[in-house]
Amino acid sequence: MHTIIGIPIAKGIAHGPVRIIHDTSMEAVERLGCNTDEEIQIFHDARNKAIGEIETIRLNTMKNIGEQESKIFEAHQSILEDPELISQVEAYILDKRCCAEWALSLVGNRFRAIFEAMDNAYMKERAIDIKDITCRVVNLIMGHYSDVGSINEPYVLVAHDLTPSQTSTLETKYVKGIITEVGGKTAHSAIIATLLKIPYVVIEKGTTLLKDGDEVVFDGREGSVIVDPDQIYLDAYYVKEKQLVQEEEKYASLRGKVCKTQDNMEVELIANISQIKDLDFIVKSDAKSVGLFRTEFIFMDQERLPTEDEQYEIYKKITTAMSEGYVTIRTLDIGGDKESPLFDIPKEDNPFLGYRGIRLCLEEVEIFKTQLRAILRASAHGQIKIMFPMIASLTEIRKAKDILKICKKELEAVDVAYDSNIEVGIMIETPAAVVMADLFAKEVDFFSIGTNDLIQYTMAVDRSNLKISALYSQYDPAVLRSMKVIAEAAKKENISVSICGEAAADIKLLPYWLGIGISKLSMSVALIPEVKWTISQMTSTKGIEVAKALNKAGDVREVLEGLELTAL
Ligand code: PEP
Ligand code: MG
Repeated sequence: MHTIIGIPIAKGIAHGPVRIIHDTSMEAVERLGCNTDEEIQIFHDARNKAIGEIETIRLNTMKNIGEQESKIFEAHQSILEDPELISQVEAYILDKRCCAEWALSLVGNRFRAIFEAMDNAYMKERAIDIKDITCRVVNLIMGHYSDVGSINEPYVLVAHDLTPSQTSTLETKYVKGIITEVGGKTAHSAIIATLLKIPYVVIEKGTTLLKDGDEVVFDGREGSVIVDPDQIYLDAYYVKEKQLVQEEEKYASLRGKVCKTQDNMEVELIANISQIKDLDFIVKSDAKSVGLFRTEFIFMDQERLPTEDEQYEIYKKITTAMSEGYVTIRTLDIGGDKESPLFDIPKEDNPFLGYRGIRLCLEEVEIFKTQLRAILRASAHGQIKIMFPMIASLTEIRKAKDILKICKKELEAVDVAYDSNIEVGIMIETPAAVVMADLFAKEVDFFSIGTNDLIQYTMAVDRSNLKISALYSQYDPAVLRSMKVIAEAAKKENISVSICGEAAADIKLLPYWLGIGISKLSMSVALIPEVKWTISQMTSTKGIEVAKALNKAGDVREVLEGLELTAL
């Protein structure tokens, strides 16, 4: 038995055998002098196995996400059935007497190069599919797992990294925990794991420190992973797991009740949502409204841009489901760690400082207008608020509002209904927006503070860079003071202000948020019960006291000390 120190990401107890998921790069090694009949057979066996795996993924995607999204997997299957690809691999094996994985990786690269060289953007994108699919077969031949969809038994997933879309397709029935080598609490994969309630830790070099089949146990709140645990440790973790269940039961006792402090300050707890399939979780939760719908996920892992009608249906579905409240739809915030081949985003040295969010929308006006029209049309079916991300200047706000005005006119011209009083707000997530908050507040109906980005830009710390993760802190007084500036600017103009970054659910900071006058918090619905219970135990006067104390703090240590001293 030994322990590996990791970084806590998402709470819960994980226990099970490790399965290392290799990334999609091919690692085939040339072996010559092989028995060609055997290698051709190996190739076909792996090819058939891959087709079967993809069929399972296709069906799961169709069930959980949608028919449109499942189509990509049909395309993957047809690549594997392509007679040209098959005959070239067989010919290569016969000619060179090499192993199947080597022949396939070379032929796959050849096919990829042909597609990459094509003029048509759609065909160019097929190169990625070919890479994906040939890697799957190569990994199968080599006995590596490359795909989380291919394991049908409980396991702890270990990988270098997971994309948000990989995370969202995880089968919670099988994935008992996640360990990645990179990432942080605010990386989008972590946000999805939290919603799915999968315990998650980050371990630098996890894929080399652990090996397939190792039995591990960990608590996602603590970070340390025990490898080959002795029974006494396993027993201790079972106790912790039981305690967690008991805590959840305690929190659940407040379900359906208004969230308020002991001195009756009401706090609105609302939901963050990333994709339509999260809707089930939201509808079953205590949240009556959505404070952040990250619409970029509609644009990820797609073959083409979603049409206005397709988007309209999605927004309408969510709005109709949240009929007792409202839905805040954030316009496309692609870029940073949310990539999509549908956009021509050049390779950037600093993607988080690059072409993302509103910057891209103001350039790609047609894409932006399509989305805005879809949102406006959906606003005829319930209460919707529009929110622009990554705002850094007044010019951006005004340009975005002007485009929205044009969209309204276009709909009026063809007599299409929309809510003419639709509220328009912005995310405050850049230091520029903090400094300008007093003027921005005169331009919009609401602010929502994106602490995930605000922390990274205020502290100049990449939110997913492990090396400097200790510097990324919501407890830094620079961050807390910024929050106070924003809350005051909103109050002065009488507009609403909420927090929708992960810090909204930070239990320790709840008194501070209330103390500076923020009474609307948007978060993963998995976190709402504990936050609600904690708020029910505190008073708003205590919050004011905490805020006063923390506003005097000079560094993170003093903030944390202040929080200890003023603890509930
Ligand atoms: C944020 O930055 O806090 C936020 C909520 O947006 P995202 O995490 O999607 O960047
Ligand atoms: Mg953000």
